[in-house]
Amino acid sequence: MQPFEGIVVGAGATGVATAIGLAQAGVKVALVGPADLRRNGRTVALWAGSVQMLRNIGIWQDISTHAEPIITMRLVDDTGSIFTQPPVDFCAGELGHDEFGFNIENFWLVQALLAKAETQANITRFTALVQKVELLPDQGMVRLETGQSLCAPLLVGAEGRQSPTRAAALIEVRKWDYPQVALTAIFSHQRPHKDISTEFHTRSGPCTLVPLPAEPDAPHRSSLVWLMRPPEASRRSQLSDADFAQAVEAQVQHLLGWMQVQGSRAQFPMSGMVAKRMSGHRVALVGEAAHVFPPIGAQGLNLGMRDVAGLIDLVTQAHDTCGDLGSEAVLHAYERARRADIELRTRGVDVLNTALLTDLLPADFMRGAGLLALANIAPLRRAIMRQGMNPGNPPPLMRASKRQAIGNRAAGNHE
Ligand SMILES: Cc1cc2nc3c(=O)[nH]c(=O)nc-3n(C[C@H](O)[C@H](O)[C@H](O)COP(=O)(O)OP(=O)(O)OC[C@H]3O[C@@H](n4cnc5c(N)ncnc54)[C@H](O)[C@@H]3O)c2cc1C
Repeated sequence: MQPFEGIVVGAGATGVATAIGLAQAGVKVALVGPADLRRNGRTVALWAGSVQMLRNIGIWQDISTHAEPIITMRLVDDTGSIFTQPPVDFCAGELGHDEFGFNIENFWLVQALLAKAETQANITRFTALVQKVELLPDQGMVRLETGQSLCAPLLVGAEGRQSPTRAAALIEVRKWDYPQVALTAIFSHQRPHKDISTEFHTRSGPCTLVPLPAEPDAPHRSSLVWLMRPPEASRRSQLSDADFAQAVEAQVQHLLGWMQVQGSRAQFPMSGMVAKRMSGHRVALVGEAAHVFPPIGAQGLNLGMRDVAGLIDLVTQAHDTCGDLGSEAVLHAYERARRADIELRTRGVDVLNTALLTDLLPADFMRGAGLLALANIAPLRRAIMRQGMNPGNPPPLMRASKRQAIGNRAAGNHE
Protein backbone atom coordinates (compact mmCIF):
# COMPACT_ATOMS: atom_id res chain seq x y z
CA MET A 1 0.00 0.00 0.00
CA GLN A 2 1.54 3.34 -1.08
CA PRO A 3 0.78 6.21 1.35
CA PHE A 4 0.17 9.80 0.22
CA GLU A 5 -1.10 12.97 1.87
CA GLY A 6 -3.85 13.31 -0.74
CA ILE A 7 -5.23 11.24 -3.62
CA VAL A 8 -6.98 12.93 -6.54
CA VAL A 9 -9.14 10.54 -8.55
CA GLY A 10 -9.72 11.76 -12.13
CA ALA A 11 -7.29 13.45 -14.50
CA GLY A 12 -9.72 15.87 -16.18
CA ALA A 13 -9.28 19.63 -15.88
CA THR A 14 -10.48 19.89 -12.28
CA GLY A 15 -8.55 16.84 -11.03
CA VAL A 16 -5.23 17.86 -12.55
CA ALA A 17 -5.65 21.47 -11.38
CA THR A 18 -6.36 20.21 -7.84
CA ALA A 19 -3.29 17.98 -7.85
CA ILE A 20 -1.05 20.81 -9.09
CA GLY A 21 -2.40 23.33 -6.57
CA LEU A 22 -1.98 20.91 -3.67
CA ALA A 23 1.49 19.84 -4.85
CA GLN A 24 2.62 23.46 -5.12
CA ALA A 25 1.47 23.99 -1.53
CA GLY A 26 3.75 21.14 -0.45
CA VAL A 27 1.18 18.30 -0.27
CA LYS A 28 2.34 14.91 -1.59
CA VAL A 29 -0.42 13.73 -3.91
CA ALA A 30 -1.26 10.82 -6.14
CA LEU A 31 -3.06 11.83 -9.35
CA VAL A 32 -4.97 8.82 -10.61
CA GLY A 33 -6.81 8.10 -13.85
CA PRO A 34 -6.33 8.02 -17.62
CA ALA A 35 -6.07 11.25 -19.59
CA ASP A 36 -8.70 12.08 -22.21
CA LEU A 37 -6.98 14.09 -24.92
CA ARG A 38 -9.48 13.60 -27.74
CA ARG A 39 -10.06 16.65 -29.94
CA ASN A 40 -13.83 16.72 -30.37
CA GLY A 41 -14.58 20.30 -31.26
CA ARG A 42 -15.21 21.14 -27.62
CA THR A 43 -13.96 24.38 -26.11
CA VAL A 44 -14.38 26.05 -22.74
CA ALA A 45 -14.88 29.70 -21.99
CA LEU A 46 -12.90 30.43 -18.83
CA TRP A 47 -13.87 33.50 -16.83
CA ALA A 48 -11.44 35.81 -15.06
CA GLY A 49 -11.15 33.80 -11.80
CA SER A 50 -10.33 30.55 -13.60
CA VAL A 51 -7.79 32.30 -15.82
CA GLN A 52 -6.17 33.90 -12.79
CA MET A 53 -5.91 30.51 -11.10
CA LEU A 54 -4.25 29.05 -14.21
CA ARG A 55 -1.80 31.98 -14.14
CA ASN A 56 -1.08 31.37 -10.48
CA ILE A 57 -0.34 27.67 -10.94
CA GLY A 58 1.87 28.46 -13.93
CA ILE A 59 -0.23 27.12 -16.81
CA TRP A 60 -1.58 30.19 -18.54
CA GLN A 61 1.66 31.25 -20.25
CA ASP A 62 1.76 27.83 -21.95
CA ILE A 63 -1.73 28.05 -23.43
CA SER A 64 -2.53 31.72 -23.88
CA THR A 65 -1.69 31.61 -27.60
CA HIS A 66 -4.47 29.01 -28.03
CA ALA A 67 -7.02 31.19 -26.23
CA GLU A 68 -9.10 34.07 -27.60
CA PRO A 69 -10.47 36.86 -25.43
CA ILE A 70 -14.23 37.29 -25.06
CA ILE A 71 -14.88 41.01 -24.94
CA THR A 72 -18.60 41.13 -25.67
CA MET A 73 -21.37 38.63 -25.01
CA ARG A 74 -24.44 39.09 -27.20
CA LEU A 75 -27.81 37.49 -26.47
CA VAL A 76 -30.14 37.16 -29.45
CA ASP A 77 -33.76 36.19 -28.81
CA ASP A 78 -34.47 33.78 -31.66
CA THR A 79 -37.52 32.11 -30.12
CA GLY A 80 -40.02 33.84 -32.39
CA SER A 81 -42.09 34.77 -29.33
CA ILE A 82 -44.44 37.76 -29.59
CA PHE A 83 -42.37 39.42 -26.84
CA THR A 84 -39.09 39.13 -28.80
CA GLN A 85 -36.59 41.88 -27.90
CA PRO A 86 -33.60 43.27 -29.84
CA PRO A 87 -30.18 41.68 -29.05
CA VAL A 88 -28.60 42.59 -25.70
CA ASP A 89 -24.84 43.18 -25.47
CA PHE A 90 -22.81 42.64 -22.32
CA CYS A 91 -19.45 44.43 -22.68
CA ALA A 92 -16.44 43.75 -20.45
CA GLY A 93 -15.56 47.43 -20.68
CA GLU A 94 -18.73 48.27 -18.74
CA LEU A 95 -17.11 46.55 -15.75
CA GLY A 96 -13.77 48.23 -16.43
CA HIS A 97 -12.20 44.97 -17.74
CA ASP A 98 -10.39 44.32 -21.00
CA GLU A 99 -12.25 41.02 -21.41
CA PHE A 100 -14.60 38.69 -19.54
CA GLY A 101 -12.33 35.72 -20.05
CA PHE A 102 -10.96 33.48 -22.79
CA ASN A 103 -12.19 30.62 -24.95
CA ILE A 104 -9.86 27.66 -25.47
CA GLU A 105 -10.08 24.16 -26.89
CA ASN A 106 -10.40 21.63 -24.02
CA PHE A 107 -7.55 19.66 -25.50
CA TRP A 108 -4.98 22.47 -25.02
CA LEU A 109 -6.10 23.12 -21.47
CA VAL A 110 -5.98 19.51 -20.28
CA GLN A 111 -2.75 18.81 -22.16
CA ALA A 112 -1.00 21.78 -20.53
CA LEU A 113 -2.31 20.84 -17.07
CA LEU A 114 -1.03 17.26 -17.49
CA ALA A 115 2.36 18.51 -18.74
CA LYS A 116 2.64 20.77 -15.67
CA ALA A 117 1.65 17.91 -13.36
CA GLU A 118 4.51 15.83 -14.80
CA THR A 119 6.99 18.50 -13.62
CA GLN A 120 5.75 18.59 -10.00
CA ALA A 121 7.97 16.62 -7.62
CA ASN A 122 5.06 16.25 -5.18
CA ILE A 123 2.79 14.51 -7.74
CA THR A 124 2.97 10.78 -8.42
CA ARG A 125 0.99 9.92 -11.53
CA PHE A 126 -1.01 6.70 -11.98
CA THR A 127 -2.79 6.34 -15.32
CA ALA A 128 -5.00 3.35 -14.44
CA LEU A 129 -8.70 3.62 -13.57
CA VAL A 130 -9.74 3.40 -9.94
CA GLN A 131 -11.66 0.19 -9.38
CA LYS A 132 -12.54 0.40 -5.72
CA VAL A 133 -12.67 3.10 -3.04
CA GLU A 134 -12.79 2.26 0.65
CA LEU A 135 -13.09 4.71 3.53
CA LEU A 136 -11.48 3.82 6.85
CA PRO A 137 -11.59 5.96 10.02
CA ASP A 138 -8.23 7.70 9.41
CA GLN A 139 -7.77 7.38 5.69
CA GLY A 140 -9.23 6.60 2.31
CA MET A 141 -7.96 3.76 0.16
CA VAL A 142 -8.17 3.32 -3.59
CA ARG A 143 -7.50 0.15 -5.55
CA LEU A 144 -6.46 0.59 -9.18
CA GLU A 145 -7.20 -1.70 -12.12
CA THR A 146 -3.56 -2.70 -12.04
CA GLY A 147 -3.99 -4.14 -8.53
CA GLN A 148 -1.99 -1.32 -6.87
CA SER A 149 -3.44 0.18 -3.67
CA LEU A 150 -2.94 3.75 -2.46
CA CYS A 151 -4.02 5.44 0.76
CA ALA A 152 -4.24 9.00 2.11
CA PRO A 153 -6.13 10.97 4.75
CA LEU A 154 -7.88 12.94 1.97
CA LEU A 155 -9.48 11.64 -1.24
CA VAL A 156 -10.60 14.14 -3.87
CA GLY A 157 -13.31 12.84 -6.20
CA ALA A 158 -12.70 14.57 -9.54
CA GLU A 159 -13.70 11.70 -11.80
CA GLY A 160 -16.81 13.24 -13.35
CA ARG A 161 -20.45 12.26 -13.09
CA GLN A 162 -19.98 8.51 -12.43
CA SER A 163 -17.77 9.12 -9.40
CA PRO A 164 -16.79 5.97 -7.47
CA THR A 165 -15.38 8.21 -4.72
CA ARG A 166 -18.77 9.88 -4.29
CA ALA A 167 -20.49 6.49 -4.21
CA ALA A 168 -18.08 5.16 -1.55
CA ALA A 169 -18.81 8.20 0.64
CA LEU A 170 -22.56 7.45 0.27
CA ILE A 171 -23.19 10.96 -1.04
CA GLU A 172 -26.61 11.04 -2.67
CA VAL A 173 -27.30 12.95 -5.85
CA ARG A 174 -30.30 14.59 -7.46
CA LYS A 175 -30.39 13.83 -11.21
CA TRP A 176 -32.58 14.96 -14.06
CA ASP A 177 -32.55 14.92 -17.88
CA TYR A 178 -33.20 17.61 -20.44
CA PRO A 179 -34.77 16.76 -23.83
CA GLN A 180 -31.69 18.18 -25.51
CA VAL A 181 -28.39 17.19 -27.08
CA ALA A 182 -25.48 19.61 -27.62
CA LEU A 183 -23.63 19.44 -30.93
CA THR A 184 -20.11 20.85 -30.89
CA ALA A 185 -17.67 21.78 -33.63
CA ILE A 186 -14.94 24.25 -34.50
CA PHE A 187 -15.31 26.40 -37.62
CA SER A 188 -13.21 28.64 -39.78
CA HIS A 189 -15.36 31.37 -41.26
CA GLN A 190 -15.44 34.29 -43.65
CA ARG A 191 -15.91 37.32 -41.39
CA PRO A 192 -14.11 38.27 -38.13
CA HIS A 193 -15.86 37.46 -34.84
CA LYS A 194 -14.54 40.67 -33.23
CA ASP A 195 -14.16 38.78 -29.93
CA ILE A 196 -17.93 38.65 -29.56
CA SER A 197 -19.57 35.50 -28.23
CA THR A 198 -23.10 35.30 -29.65
CA GLU A 199 -25.78 33.20 -27.97
CA PHE A 200 -28.95 32.67 -30.07
CA HIS A 201 -31.79 31.65 -27.77
CA THR A 202 -33.99 29.25 -29.72
CA ARG A 203 -37.00 27.16 -28.73
CA SER A 204 -34.81 24.08 -28.36
CA GLY A 205 -32.04 25.81 -26.40
CA PRO A 206 -29.13 28.16 -27.04
CA CYS A 207 -26.95 28.04 -30.13
CA THR A 208 -23.68 29.75 -29.25
CA LEU A 209 -20.68 30.83 -31.29
CA VAL A 210 -17.59 31.57 -29.23
CA PRO A 211 -14.43 33.23 -30.64
CA LEU A 212 -11.19 31.27 -31.14
CA PRO A 213 -7.73 32.54 -32.18
CA ALA A 214 -6.57 32.61 -35.78
CA GLU A 215 -4.47 29.80 -37.24
CA PRO A 216 -2.04 30.22 -40.16
CA ASP A 217 -4.56 28.84 -42.68
CA ALA A 218 -7.70 30.12 -40.91
CA PRO A 219 -7.74 33.82 -39.95
CA HIS A 220 -11.25 33.67 -38.44
CA ARG A 221 -12.31 30.81 -36.15
CA SER A 222 -15.10 30.11 -33.66
CA SER A 223 -16.46 27.17 -31.74
CA LEU A 224 -20.10 26.12 -31.72
CA VAL A 225 -22.30 24.69 -28.96
CA TRP A 226 -25.78 24.06 -30.34
CA LEU A 227 -28.49 22.60 -28.11
CA MET A 228 -31.46 20.93 -29.82
CA ARG A 229 -34.05 18.18 -29.41
CA PRO A 230 -32.60 14.65 -29.71
CA PRO A 231 -34.23 13.74 -33.07
CA GLU A 232 -32.86 16.94 -34.62
CA ALA A 233 -29.45 16.23 -33.13
CA SER A 234 -29.37 12.75 -34.55
CA ARG A 235 -30.43 14.02 -37.99
CA ARG A 236 -27.92 16.89 -38.01
CA SER A 237 -25.05 14.79 -36.71
CA GLN A 238 -25.45 12.56 -39.76
CA LEU A 239 -25.03 15.49 -42.16
CA SER A 240 -21.76 15.86 -44.05
CA ASP A 241 -19.44 18.61 -42.75
CA ALA A 242 -20.46 20.85 -45.66
CA ASP A 243 -24.20 20.37 -45.06
CA PHE A 244 -23.77 20.81 -41.32
CA ALA A 245 -21.87 24.06 -41.88
CA GLN A 246 -24.74 25.29 -44.06
CA ALA A 247 -27.26 24.41 -41.35
CA VAL A 248 -25.22 26.37 -38.82
CA GLU A 249 -24.85 29.35 -41.17
CA ALA A 250 -28.64 29.50 -41.51
CA GLN A 251 -29.19 29.09 -37.76
CA VAL A 252 -26.82 31.96 -36.92
CA GLN A 253 -28.37 34.18 -39.60
CA HIS A 254 -25.16 34.22 -41.70
CA LEU A 255 -23.50 36.28 -38.96
CA LEU A 256 -19.96 35.17 -39.84
CA GLY A 257 -20.41 34.59 -43.59
CA TRP A 258 -19.48 31.17 -44.97
CA MET A 259 -18.41 28.56 -42.41
CA GLN A 260 -16.25 25.44 -42.71
CA VAL A 261 -15.90 22.65 -40.13
CA GLN A 262 -12.35 22.17 -38.80
CA GLY A 263 -11.62 18.75 -37.29
CA SER A 264 -14.19 16.48 -35.70
CA ARG A 265 -17.70 17.14 -34.40
CA ALA A 266 -19.28 15.65 -31.26
CA GLN A 267 -22.58 15.38 -29.44
CA PHE A 268 -23.38 15.47 -25.72
CA PRO A 269 -26.77 14.47 -24.24
CA MET A 270 -27.85 17.11 -21.72
CA SER A 271 -28.59 16.25 -18.12
CA GLY A 272 -28.39 17.78 -14.68
CA MET A 273 -26.97 16.41 -11.47
CA VAL A 274 -26.14 17.88 -8.10
CA ALA A 275 -24.58 16.07 -5.16
CA LYS A 276 -26.47 16.62 -1.91
CA ARG A 277 -23.11 17.15 -0.16
CA MET A 278 -19.72 18.32 -1.45
CA SER A 279 -17.88 16.17 1.08
CA GLY A 280 -18.16 12.97 3.05
CA HIS A 281 -15.96 11.00 5.39
CA ARG A 282 -12.35 11.56 4.08
CA VAL A 283 -13.77 12.74 0.75
CA ALA A 284 -14.17 16.07 -1.07
CA LEU A 285 -15.82 16.34 -4.49
CA VAL A 286 -14.84 18.81 -7.21
CA GLY A 287 -16.19 19.57 -10.69
CA GLU A 288 -18.64 17.26 -12.43
CA ALA A 289 -18.36 14.67 -9.67
CA ALA A 290 -20.50 17.18 -7.75
CA HIS A 291 -22.51 19.17 -10.30
CA VAL A 292 -23.51 18.86 -13.95
CA PHE A 293 -25.71 21.19 -16.01
CA PRO A 294 -26.08 22.31 -19.63
CA PRO A 295 -23.51 24.67 -21.17
CA ILE A 296 -25.37 27.96 -20.80
CA GLY A 297 -23.40 31.05 -19.83
CA ALA A 298 -20.23 28.91 -19.63
CA GLN A 299 -20.67 28.12 -15.96
CA GLY A 300 -19.70 24.41 -15.59
CA LEU A 301 -15.92 24.29 -15.50
CA ASN A 302 -15.70 27.77 -13.99
CA LEU A 303 -17.79 26.50 -11.08
CA GLY A 304 -15.56 23.41 -10.91
CA MET A 305 -12.44 25.59 -10.82
CA ARG A 306 -13.92 27.52 -7.89
CA ASP A 307 -14.37 24.16 -6.09
CA VAL A 308 -10.70 23.46 -6.79
CA ALA A 309 -9.47 26.85 -5.55
CA GLY A 310 -11.67 26.70 -2.45
CA LEU A 311 -10.53 23.19 -1.54
CA ILE A 312 -6.85 23.95 -2.09
CA ASP A 313 -7.15 26.98 0.18
CA LEU A 314 -8.60 24.96 3.09
CA VAL A 315 -6.33 21.93 2.67
CA THR A 316 -3.27 24.18 2.42
CA GLN A 317 -4.19 25.88 5.69
CA ALA A 318 -4.46 22.46 7.38
CA HIS A 319 -1.15 21.39 5.84
CA ASP A 320 0.63 24.55 7.00
CA THR A 321 -0.45 23.88 10.59
CA CYS A 322 0.38 20.13 10.35
CA GLY A 323 -3.33 19.34 10.68
CA ASP A 324 -5.26 16.38 9.30
CA LEU A 325 -5.94 17.21 5.63
CA GLY A 326 -9.10 15.13 5.51
CA SER A 327 -10.50 16.04 8.93
CA GLU A 328 -14.18 16.76 9.49
CA ALA A 329 -13.30 20.40 10.20
CA VAL A 330 -11.63 20.86 6.80
CA LEU A 331 -14.36 19.00 4.92
CA HIS A 332 -17.23 20.78 6.68
CA ALA A 333 -15.59 24.14 5.96
CA TYR A 334 -15.36 23.11 2.30
CA GLU A 335 -19.04 22.17 2.25
CA ARG A 336 -20.00 25.54 3.75
CA ALA A 337 -17.76 27.47 1.37
CA ARG A 338 -19.16 25.88 -1.80
CA ARG A 339 -22.87 25.14 -1.24
CA ALA A 340 -24.43 28.53 -2.10
CA ASP A 341 -22.44 29.03 -5.31
CA ILE A 342 -23.33 25.55 -6.57
CA GLU A 343 -27.04 25.86 -5.76
CA LEU A 344 -27.22 29.29 -7.39
CA ARG A 345 -25.55 28.16 -10.67
CA THR A 346 -27.47 24.89 -10.90
CA ARG A 347 -30.84 26.58 -10.37
CA GLY A 348 -29.98 29.60 -12.55
CA VAL A 349 -28.98 27.47 -15.55
CA ASP A 350 -32.01 25.21 -15.05
CA VAL A 351 -34.44 28.17 -14.99
CA LEU A 352 -32.88 29.77 -18.09
CA ASN A 353 -32.88 26.52 -20.04
CA THR A 354 -36.38 25.47 -19.00
CA ALA A 355 -37.75 28.95 -19.83
CA LEU A 356 -36.44 28.53 -23.38
CA LEU A 357 -37.96 25.08 -23.79
CA THR A 358 -41.45 26.21 -22.83
CA ASP A 359 -43.58 28.22 -25.25
CA LEU A 360 -46.16 29.26 -22.66
CA LEU A 361 -47.12 32.90 -22.89
CA PRO A 362 -46.20 33.83 -19.28
CA ALA A 363 -42.72 32.34 -19.69
CA ASP A 364 -42.24 34.21 -22.98
CA PHE A 365 -43.42 37.42 -21.34
CA MET A 366 -41.03 37.00 -18.40
CA ARG A 367 -38.10 36.28 -20.71
CA GLY A 368 -38.94 39.27 -22.93
CA ALA A 369 -39.30 41.54 -19.90
CA GLY A 370 -36.01 40.24 -18.51
CA LEU A 371 -34.14 41.00 -21.74
CA LEU A 372 -35.75 44.44 -21.96
CA ALA A 373 -34.66 45.20 -18.41
CA LEU A 374 -31.12 43.97 -19.10
CA ALA A 375 -30.89 46.14 -22.22
CA ASN A 376 -32.07 49.28 -20.47
CA ILE A 377 -31.02 49.11 -16.82
CA ALA A 378 -27.24 49.41 -16.70
CA PRO A 379 -26.79 48.65 -12.96
CA LEU A 380 -28.84 45.44 -13.38
CA ARG A 381 -26.77 44.48 -16.42
CA ARG A 382 -23.53 45.09 -14.52
CA ALA A 383 -24.76 43.10 -11.51
CA ILE A 384 -25.61 40.12 -13.75
CA MET A 385 -22.24 40.34 -15.49
CA ARG A 386 -20.38 40.40 -12.17
CA GLN A 387 -22.39 37.48 -10.85
CA GLY A 388 -21.83 35.45 -14.02
CA MET A 389 -18.10 36.06 -14.28
CA ASN A 390 -16.68 36.30 -10.81
CA PRO A 391 -19.16 35.87 -8.00
CA GLY A 392 -18.52 36.82 -4.40
CA ASN A 393 -15.20 36.75 -2.69
CA PRO A 394 -12.81 34.59 -4.78
CA PRO A 395 -10.56 32.05 -3.01
CA PRO A 396 -6.90 33.22 -2.72
CA LEU A 397 -5.76 31.06 -5.63
CA MET A 398 -8.05 33.08 -7.91
CA ARG A 399 -6.62 36.43 -6.83
CA ALA A 400 -3.83 38.27 -8.62
CA SER A 401 -1.73 38.68 -5.46
CA LYS A 402 -1.58 34.91 -4.86
CA ARG A 403 0.96 34.39 -7.62
CA GLN A 404 3.91 35.73 -5.66
CA ALA A 405 2.86 33.78 -2.58
CA ILE A 406 2.88 30.52 -4.54
CA GLY A 407 6.22 31.34 -6.12
CA ASN A 408 7.68 31.92 -2.66
CA ARG A 409 6.16 28.76 -1.27
CA ALA A 410 7.48 26.65 -4.18
CA ALA A 411 10.93 28.14 -3.57
CA GLY A 412 10.70 27.30 0.12
CA ASN A 413 10.43 30.97 1.23
CA HIS A 414 7.42 30.81 3.52
CA GLU A 415 6.05 34.24 4.36
C1 LIG B 1 -20.71 20.98 -24.95
C2 LIG B 1 -20.14 21.50 -23.66
C3 LIG B 1 -19.61 22.78 -23.60
C4 LIG B 1 -19.12 23.28 -22.39
N1 LIG B 1 -18.64 24.57 -22.35
C5 LIG B 1 -18.20 25.06 -21.18
C6 LIG B 1 -17.68 26.40 -21.10
O1 LIG B 1 -17.62 27.14 -22.10
N2 LIG B 1 -17.26 26.87 -19.88
C7 LIG B 1 -17.33 26.10 -18.75
O2 LIG B 1 -16.95 26.58 -17.67
N3 LIG B 1 -17.80 24.83 -18.80
C8 LIG B 1 -18.21 24.29 -19.98
N4 LIG B 1 -18.66 23.00 -20.03
C9 LIG B 1 -18.58 22.16 -18.82
C10 LIG B 1 -17.18 21.57 -18.68
O3 LIG B 1 -16.78 20.96 -19.89
C11 LIG B 1 -17.14 20.55 -17.54
O4 LIG B 1 -17.57 21.22 -16.37
C12 LIG B 1 -15.74 20.02 -17.29
O5 LIG B 1 -15.21 19.39 -18.42
C13 LIG B 1 -15.76 19.04 -16.12
O6 LIG B 1 -14.42 18.71 -15.80
P1 LIG B 1 -14.12 17.64 -14.68
O7 LIG B 1 -12.64 17.60 -14.55
O8 LIG B 1 -14.93 17.92 -13.46
O9 LIG B 1 -14.70 16.25 -15.25
P2 LIG B 1 -14.25 15.41 -16.52
O10 LIG B 1 -13.77 16.29 -17.61
O11 LIG B 1 -15.41 14.50 -16.80
O12 LIG B 1 -13.01 14.57 -16.04
C14 LIG B 1 -13.16 13.41 -15.26
C15 LIG B 1 -11.95 12.51 -15.50
O13 LIG B 1 -12.04 11.41 -14.61
C16 LIG B 1 -11.76 10.22 -15.31
N5 LIG B 1 -12.37 9.07 -14.63
C17 LIG B 1 -13.66 8.65 -14.69
N6 LIG B 1 -13.83 7.55 -13.93
C18 LIG B 1 -12.63 7.29 -13.37
C19 LIG B 1 -12.15 6.28 -12.49
N7 LIG B 1 -12.95 5.31 -12.05
N8 LIG B 1 -10.86 6.30 -12.12
C20 LIG B 1 -10.03 7.29 -12.55
N9 LIG B 1 -10.41 8.26 -13.40
C21 LIG B 1 -11.70 8.25 -13.80
C22 LIG B 1 -12.26 10.46 -16.73
O14 LIG B 1 -11.58 9.63 -17.64
C23 LIG B 1 -11.91 11.94 -16.92
O15 LIG B 1 -10.60 12.10 -17.43
C24 LIG B 1 -19.15 22.48 -21.23
C25 LIG B 1 -19.67 21.18 -21.29
C26 LIG B 1 -20.16 20.70 -22.49
C27 LIG B 1 -20.73 19.30 -22.55
